Amino acid sequence: MNFIRISASTFVLALAVMISAATASAQDTTIKTKKQAELLVPRPAFQPVQSMDAATMVALDTLDTSDPRIKILLYDDYTWKYYKDPSFANDDAIFTECWTHEAPDPYRASLESLPDEIALWIVDSLSGYKCPNQTEVFSKFGFRHRRRHQGVDLPLHTGTPVYAAFNGKVRLAKSFRGYGNLVVLRHENGLETFYAHLSKIMVSEDQWVDAGSIIGLGGSTGRSSGPHLHFETRYKGYAFDPEWLIDFKSGVLRHRLFILKKKYLNASSNYVPEDEQEEIDIIEGDTREKEEAAKKAEAERKAAAQVQYHTIRQGDTLGAIARKYHTTVKKLCQLNGISERTTLRLGRKLRVR
Ligand SMILES: [Zn+2]
Repeated sequence: MNFIRISASTFVLALAVMISAATASAQDTTIKTKKQAELLVPRPAFQPVQSMDAATMVALDTLDTSDPRIKILLYDDYTWKYYKDPSFANDDAIFTECWTHEAPDPYRASLESLPDEIALWIVDSLSGYKCPNQTEVFSKFGFRHRRRHQGVDLPLHTGTPVYAAFNGKVRLAKSFRGYGNLVVLRHENGLETFYAHLSKIMVSEDQWVDAGSIIGLGGSTGRSSGPHLHFETRYKGYAFDPEWLIDFKSGVLRHRLFILKKKYLNASSNYVPEDEQEEIDIIEGDTREKEEAAKKAEAERKAAAQVQYHTIRQGDTLGAIARKYHTTVKKLCQLNGISERTTLRLGRKLRVR
């Protein structure tokens, strides 16, 4: 599913041009220039793609194009978009190679076997995007409390819908060890996304899903200390930081074309069965860290709130000020970096606490 939403006035003209162009551009994964490639390494949002709202889109009609795989969907608000019939991809190597419903990592690929740079079209005119669960990331990817975290943890309330980030095919949909109820989607670019700890799985293996369809409800199954979505992005079994792709707080996608460099992957990002306590230790560690940071901030705020000043008026002496604020001349001098002989200028602010 795509994003191109064009007003009715430009529809007829655009239609003729784009029917012929659609098939050619959809699968072009080459990097055109070095500059383009450099722009696409992990970085803050440049031209982010908004998370779509599937609920508001009502299709009225479907039109054929010259390519039998590609249809045009017309919407009730006179916008339209291309739609690729996913069943045509069934024989694609992407969806046949290492296709299993059993293991989270069926590839067992060596790091050496991967190319130095992998160009991944994340969205194009035929494929959409939806943030799986829009919220602030609680536990980040990477080493946390001496454990390796293979994804990001996104807090939610049990029962919250979890969305397919991109179009894809359900490779795995079952309870799996520490992941709890787990859905793994494989996408047309070869990328796989993992959705773990679901309270309910709402898709079945081998089913095609569009970006934005509900794949399950959030929960706390498996090794989890509270309801959250554990979300992973993997290529050939190697996990990389999902925040390179998605800004979960705003919900926007950071890249249309993402260049995954081998140097960002390492052997320990390959799939390893989750340690019994892994997810719990990570979340509890982060919870402790956040609580300590909050306590520290509160203590600093309190200390700052206690700071008090006195504006020097006619006739003030250090001794009189000290008595007034139940402190000592020595303390006043310390707080203000002055000596007992310093002349008190009228209007000067003296810190008294
Ligand atoms: Zn996690």
